[in-house]
Amino acid sequence: MNFKAPRGTHDLIGPEALRLRQLEEISRNVLYKWNYSEICLPSFEDAGLFTRSIGESTDIVEKEMYVFEDRKGRKLALRPEGTASAVRAVIEHNLTQTLPLVKLFYAGSMFRYERPQAGRYREFFQVGAEYFGNPEPAADAETVIVADEILRKMGLSKTEIHLNSLGCKACRPAFRAALKDYFASQKDLCGDCRRRLEHNPLRLLDCKIDGHKFEGVPKMEDFLCPECSDHFGRVRELLQQSGRAFIVDHRLVRGLDYYTKTIFEIRSASVGSQDALCAGGRYDNLVEELGGASTEAVGFALGSERIILAASNENAFREPQGPVRVFIAVSGESLVKEAFGFAVKLKTSSRNDEIRSGLGLEDKAIRVEGPFAKKSLKSQLKLADRLGADKTIIFGEEEYKLGVVIIRDMKTQGQSEVRVRPA
Ligand code: AMP
Repeated sequence: MNFKAPRGTHDLIGPEALRLRQLEEISRNVLYKWNYSEICLPSFEDAGLFTRSIGESTDIVEKEMYVFEDRKGRKLALRPEGTASAVRAVIEHNLTQTLPLVKLFYAGSMFRYERPQAGRYREFFQVGAEYFGNPEPAADAETVIVADEILRKMGLSKTEIHLNSLGCKACRPAFRAALKDYFASQKDLCGDCRRRLEHNPLRLLDCKIDGHKFEGVPKMEDFLCPECSDHFGRVRELLQQSGRAFIVDHRLVRGLDYYTKTIFEIRSASVGSQDALCAGGRYDNLVEELGGASTEAVGFALGSERIILAASNENAFREPQGPVRVFIAVSGESLVKEAFGFAVKLKTSSRNDEIRSGLGLEDKAIRVEGPFAKKSLKSQLKLADRLGADKTIIFGEEEYKLGVVIIRDMKTQGQSEVRVRPA
């Protein structure tokens, strides 16, 4: 029986895994600077948590969730996103009461049963951040800037910030009604649009099939109540103040119901049709809707695979300063014990240990491999080459009797001797 990775999942091997970790490390460094702390959340939750927060008539809940029953008949779901879990954790641990400031971030995989294509997977990685308890426009502007900053630190330049406001409970209903009226007069809507028209008319705005037809479609901005309008204006001012260019995009909506006021997306011109690298916005009602005390909140999620793809396409990856690669070789089986012991010592050494200084490896990051006793010295050196070794330490019988080993520089092929024990 041959097994393959399930459709829509992918293995990240070697350098690919390293790139994901680099992105996460860069994100962590930026987020720490802006005073966010990490939260590790479960990969699955009560399915109802997502249905309640993301919304019954969204694609994610209707079609994309991995829902299952555990052995006790509990209805669970693999998390399709992180915000709902973060809100659940904030309420469950009463974090807004116990912490002076609740700014959280997470990194991990999310699961959605979507049609796989380039940049769209069924298991994918996100880095997300959530800022609770700050109703000020500065919190919205901060999250946009933090997300943008992570993308800049990744070396991306071909990005665009799209911004819109979805208003609030007071002003959105009139906009929805106006949209419904408008769409009712449109002929030839696609199947998805017809289905969404009743429960989720905002989603028609970003329909890939029909979207271009909607000339003169109502704009949320014209329906914003004075508070939402003022809020949106101030978010824009703050972004301008910090030199971040953005596009006010009246067609921007989100596939999740919980958003209020500001929403944003950061898109890249260096990837294909799945060009949203990041999405986020404000969700002032969600904590209360999930049973907590009324708490304003704003956040975002970055799609790691798409960012890595954009960075590769823009040649933006800075390869990390390589460690010194050391290979331990033996000229015959008789010295395997000594060579093995030496390799262990080297692998477990700290940067300034004595064992390193004779080898010129003090204060350096190292990767150590070997010994492989069963191979001839020639094939060990070949393997060292293929592994990209910088130095090979050869345990030769004659030399070892005299208390020395040979160090071979794999580039120049020059050799020298180093004492490893008294003669
Ligand atoms: P969302 O949680 O839907 O707001 O998405 C936030 C970001 O996650 C998007 O902008 C994408 O970069 C990424 N993303 C969402 N869905 C997928 C997917 N199926 N595969 C890969 N990345 C995704």
